[in-house]
Amino acid sequence: MESERAAYWQEEWRRAGLATARRDPNRAKYYAIVAYPGPSGFLHVGHLRGIVYADAFHRFHRMLGEQVFFPAGVHASGLPAVTYAQKVKDRNPTTVHELEQNGIPAADWPKLEDPEYAARFLGAQYLDVYRQVGVLVDESAYLTTVDDDYRAFIRWQFDRLRDQDALVQKTHYSAVCPVCGPVAVDPSETDLSAGGTAEIVRYTTVPFRLQDGRILLAATLRPETIYGVTNLWIPLHDPLVSWTHEGRTYLVSRAGAERLVEQHGGRIGHEIRPAELKGRSVTAPLTGVPVPVFPSSLVDPKVGAGVVMSVPAHAPADSLALAELTVQERESLRPAPVILAVPPIHELPASERELAAGTGSPAERANRATGATKLADAPALQEATERLYRLEFTRGTMTVRDYLGVPVRDARERVIAALGASKQSFELQEFSEPVVCRNGHSVVIRRVPHQWFIRYSDPEWKALGHAALRSMAVSPEDYAHDLPAILDWMDDRPCTRRGRWMGTPLPFDPEWIVEPIADSTFYPAYYVVRRFVRERGILPSALTDAFFDFVFLGEGPGEPTLDAGLQQEIRADFLYWYPLDCNIGGKEHKRVHFPPFLLTHAKLLPPELGPRGIFVHGWVTGASGEKLSKKDVSAKGGRILPMREALALWGPDALRLVHASSALPSYDFEWDPALADAAVGRLEDIARMAREAAGAGAGIPELDAWLFSGMHGVVARATHHLRENRPREAAEAIYVALPALLKRYYARGGVPGDATDRVANAWIRMLSPFTPHLAEELGVGRFPGLVASERFPSAEEFPRSEVAEAAETFLAMVEDDLRNVMRPQLDRSESAPDEVIFYVAASWKRLPEQWIREALESGATPNIAKVMERANAHPELVAHRAEIPKYVQRIAPLARSEGPPSPIPIDEVDILRSAQGYLVKRFGFSAISVHREEDAEAVDPMHRRDRARPGRPAFYLARRGGAAAPPSAE
Ligand SMILES: [Zn+2]
Repeated sequence: MESERAAYWQEEWRRAGLATARRDPNRAKYYAIVAYPGPSGFLHVGHLRGIVYADAFHRFHRMLGEQVFFPAGVHASGLPAVTYAQKVKDRNPTTVHELEQNGIPAADWPKLEDPEYAARFLGAQYLDVYRQVGVLVDESAYLTTVDDDYRAFIRWQFDRLRDQDALVQKTHYSAVCPVCGPVAVDPSETDLSAGGTAEIVRYTTVPFRLQDGRILLAATLRPETIYGVTNLWIPLHDPLVSWTHEGRTYLVSRAGAERLVEQHGGRIGHEIRPAELKGRSVTAPLTGVPVPVFPSSLVDPKVGAGVVMSVPAHAPADSLALAELTVQERESLRPAPVILAVPPIHELPASERELAAGTGSPAERANRATGATKLADAPALQEATERLYRLEFTRGTMTVRDYLGVPVRDARERVIAALGASKQSFELQEFSEPVVCRNGHSVVIRRVPHQWFIRYSDPEWKALGHAALRSMAVSPEDYAHDLPAILDWMDDRPCTRRGRWMGTPLPFDPEWIVEPIADSTFYPAYYVVRRFVRERGILPSALTDAFFDFVFLGEGPGEPTLDAGLQQEIRADFLYWYPLDCNIGGKEHKRVHFPPFLLTHAKLLPPELGPRGIFVHGWVTGASGEKLSKKDVSAKGGRILPMREALALWGPDALRLVHASSALPSYDFEWDPALADAAVGRLEDIARMAREAAGAGAGIPELDAWLFSGMHGVVARATHHLRENRPREAAEAIYVALPALLKRYYARGGVPGDATDRVANAWIRMLSPFTPHLAEELGVGRFPGLVASERFPSAEEFPRSEVAEAAETFLAMVEDDLRNVMRPQLDRSESAPDEVIFYVAASWKRLPEQWIREALESGATPNIAKVMERANAHPELVAHRAEIPKYVQRIAPLARSEGPPSPIPIDEVDILRSAQGYLVKRFGFSAISVHREEDAEAVDPMHRRDRARPGRPAFYLARRGGAAAPPSAE
């Protein structure tokens, strides 16, 4: 569709005020939202999925006569806009290319260097895209999360959460870019350019004291092995640095010191070369044992603290590193003590026996088992290490005096506690792999001492969540199944950050800014208020806690400076639109957004106002299966077009149809321009068919009855699936099944007339939710106003006819049987037979088949004697006693494998005779004759007629000149 036509209809919808939500207490309502996007760049075709689903649902409910509310906004909190503005400032080539692609003049770029401006600018772009795609958003409720009124709303939300004891302050380790601020480390890599799958490694540091009072701080994952230490390792070449903390001086690698500063404060001082420490003695904590310090190549100064405890009996690498020492140095070490025991070999699982076999220390045995003989044997050494650590942790018990017989896992906790008491041991966290922010900086882990958390671990709160879940429709089903467990596993979640971060300062502790997951859990409630704030000019200063208490909770007198009538009106609106009918979002929200959304509603509102539905959809991916990213769009030659080009190329309806129907909502689908091309073609076919269906005049009554009955089914299916949030199935009914029905109608001899005109009238309305522009084009002259405000057709507009459907199903089955028999002949390039002679089953055959089926259903084996017994008592069957046994024998196996015949009585002879013209055209026969089995002796040269069964006539394919077709099964 040309963009002018699309724009024309968009303007018509706007002028009709279709998108404006209006409370009407006499009417049902539908209110759904789509997770508002973060302003991180321009939208591309991959972003349309949720918004297209939501628009289709709202349009459908509007056509059911309901009042609908479909607001939109921009989630500007957090980093996206900050990062975007920085990229504009840096004139990042990808960002610049995107700006050019979207026609933004260079003169406007400097304004985008301000994050708040960038957020509003991108938000306006998104609204524009929604308009051009025909999405009917109520713009009077449009918001960004950095608007002053939204901030007032968030302040109320957090005041209430605190009142309800839902917040707590405690120590937290968080991922931070030192330049950009806090980032989320998760596989979506929203904030990152690398390291989304990194895990957090937690070290314990162990203080070893030099005689001069300085402390070498070793980092370990196994602090209990302090009892087996023979020496310390420091880096071979890299210097250590001093780190001073609470009056003490520690020596660690530079990377270690930087991590310690992030996590525990203190200062980094001067460097110390390895040679200065080589051979010097330190005293181990807890044991008081003096051990020497040696440089070794096994120390990676980037990992941990750059100082490593050497435990040769239990650490395969330490055992091998001893070889780097001189004989004299080795002899200066105390013998490596074995400090823990694992069960004897015969009690170990087979997989571990090899590891513990042979002689020597556990580390020596593990090295032997994996073939590690020197430090350079990295894979074998790593295997030895991982397997031995696992074995000792899961099955080991301590053999040292202090912890005799204590399981290793318990000893570890006790050693950590004992070390902690010294105030010279620290938890040290680091990522398992490098993590890099979107702007290319290294991300670190920072310890935050008084972090605010939302107490999602609270069991009573979880119980509220479970109760709310029971009255919700969650799709897809597997997510509905997982959600209770996700709630159970939810832990307290940090809800505030400091740093360069957009959002709302916490009202009672304004150094902290609410982070974006926490300020997007209750906002559907605020959309309702937002319309009034905008239209009635309510000042943010009037949006006090008293105001929100009244509007959302019905508590208190409201805000005294604000008109009471207005507040009552807003309260009424809130109670009208709430509960929210559906929250629509991508699968990345499954764990992050939906559970807090659910829990916050359960905490703040009474159960009857809790949300009614969650609808999760998959991603639009690139060829690699990754979620489409803006990089795919902006890169020159990239396969993904920016929105404005995609709209110009395919038009809004084809794009909408691709998103609504390419995959089940829960699945990802790969973006492919061919999908959009195909949708354009399909919509052209549909437009042509809908226009051709216009007409007047009576048709063939049986055929019209069948067409209406088919329409009854199609409309009922489309309606049902749209009500149940199953867009793909609904689209299948409207865009595939319905045209197929019309095609069959014409193939069976139907012509455009009254009947097809009625079908077209309904069809055009059904096209409106998914392809609204096309629906309007086709509706011109048919409907007094806009198709979008017509009623969605009701299945009741089309009478069902079971007889007509049964007749058509019967005919389709006969066609199948004919095709199956003829296919091998046609495959051999034989010409089609000249004539088909049908033999319709004698009516007595219905009963024996019915009895056999009854027997099968009750689990019995069909029994000829039993059938005969019943037949003897049946006047109609007595005359056929001789034929029954053979018949029963033949159909018993078929009755097992085939479904039952239609319960609707049909006149097979009549149906086949009226379909003669159709079958002739379809199969190329020159003649067709139809006979009842009992009258067909004279026309049955191949003795086929006794094979006829009710619903499955036998037939004979004859060739002119008397040559019979090869014998066929049926
Ligand atoms: Zn950064």
